[in-house]
Amino acid sequence: MKLIILDRDGVINVDSALYIKSPAEWKPLPGSLEAIARLNQAGYKVVIATNQSGIGRGLFDMDTLNAMHEKMHKALAVVGGRVDAIFYCPHTADEGCSCRKPKPGMFERIAALYNQDLSGVPAIGDSLRDLQAASALGCAPILVKTGKGEKTVAEGNLPEGTVVRADLAAAVDALLGKPSKKD
Ligand SMILES: [Mg+2]
Ligand SMILES: [Zn+2]
Repeated sequence: MKLIILDRDGVINVDSALYIKSPAEWKPLPGSLEAIARLNQAGYKVVIATNQSGIGRGLFDMDTLNAMHEKMHKALAVVGGRVDAIFYCPHTADEGCSCRKPKPGMFERIAALYNQDLSGVPAIGDSLRDLQAASALGCAPILVKTGKGEKTVAEGNLPEGTVVRADLAAAVDALLGKPSKKD
């Protein structure tokens, strides 16, 4: 089974330093939904692992998170794309949970759900902590320059083997062996 793990904010949708707190604020990045559809067509199961500490901070609740994801699922369906599962960490850094990236808890749960070793499984994020969590389980880390990505590239210290791509669409094109104008 082919699996790919994506961060959400800054990879699939526009990120905000003020958090994405409502379905209205959830806006897909150009080409990201179509890229997920291309992954599906190529036989990939697409899974999201996302830190959502806005819940722990009381900025939005579970119903709102579900509503955001309902919007995402519907927008994906329009272009023939599908996300298989969404893992989220609702905790703040202070709570010391094992799921908030860079901790690998969500990746461990993904490995358990699919009963699959994550070695070499592509994992795409825009922040260092996404890549660190991915690397901990042997995933192949891919950094996109959307969201916090440019800043993450500039700060360096990327896990060994990290590949940098312009955005999700370019990362997917490279993964599927298609030339992209953006890289
Ligand atoms: Mg992100
Ligand atoms: Zn957590």
